[in-house]
Amino acid sequence: NYASASFVTSAPDITKLPPDTGIEIAFAGRSNAGKSSALNTLTRQKALARTSKTPGRTQLINVFELDSGERLIDLPGYGFAKVPMAVKEKWQKALAEYLQKRDSLKGIVVLMDIRHPFRETDQELIYWAADCGIPVLALLTKADKLKQGPRKSTVLQARQASIAFNGDVQVEAFSSLKRIGVEQLENKLNEWFGS
Ligand code: GDP
Repeated sequence: NYASASFVTSAPDITKLPPDTGIEIAFAGRSNAGKSSALNTLTRQKALARTSKTPGRTQLINVFELDSGERLIDLPGYGFAKVPMAVKEKWQKALAEYLQKRDSLKGIVVLMDIRHPFRETDQELIYWAADCGIPVLALLTKADKLKQGPRKSTVLQARQASIAFNGDVQVEAFSSLKRIGVEQLENKLNEWFGS
């Protein structure tokens, strides 16, 4: 019951997350990819995750809990050009560690704008997840920006490209605006949450 999601806490880094028990699913993506909108669409809440954050700000990891006790983890958006390299590297290291060590993490949803999927940081993240045996749902967001033909061919191309990650990577079109791919997202989460 994703509508039951409620905010639990913000963590400055992964060491401050709630205890590593139960099951959690993480959401990641470049800033502005549509992650907050997707979380709000999934949970049918207007402002669970805050949209349109100021780029470059230090961002927190937001933790949401379902009535079942399972967690949705909203990871900070990445890909700011202005963030210093040292900060980027620190964050990448923390993220890699999270993927490697977090036992309760059963899947990661990677959100990418359908008009430019699989940018460098997206690829790195998906490679790490694949390496760690974490399944990935790659959502091509703002799918409403493309007409049906180009949308379909972009999804097919992305599926073809995703083979290179050598992991469990499913690619779907998604739109919060037009509610495209919401059922696919729910089905995948249900699978990961084991229901
Ligand atoms: P975040 O930074 O990844 O959390 O992205 P947001 O959810 O804040 O969305 C970034 C921008 O993309 C906002 O201006 C949203 O209105 C827009 N956006 C998000 N989802 C969609 C969508 O499905 N379709 C369209 N056309 N725009 C979207």
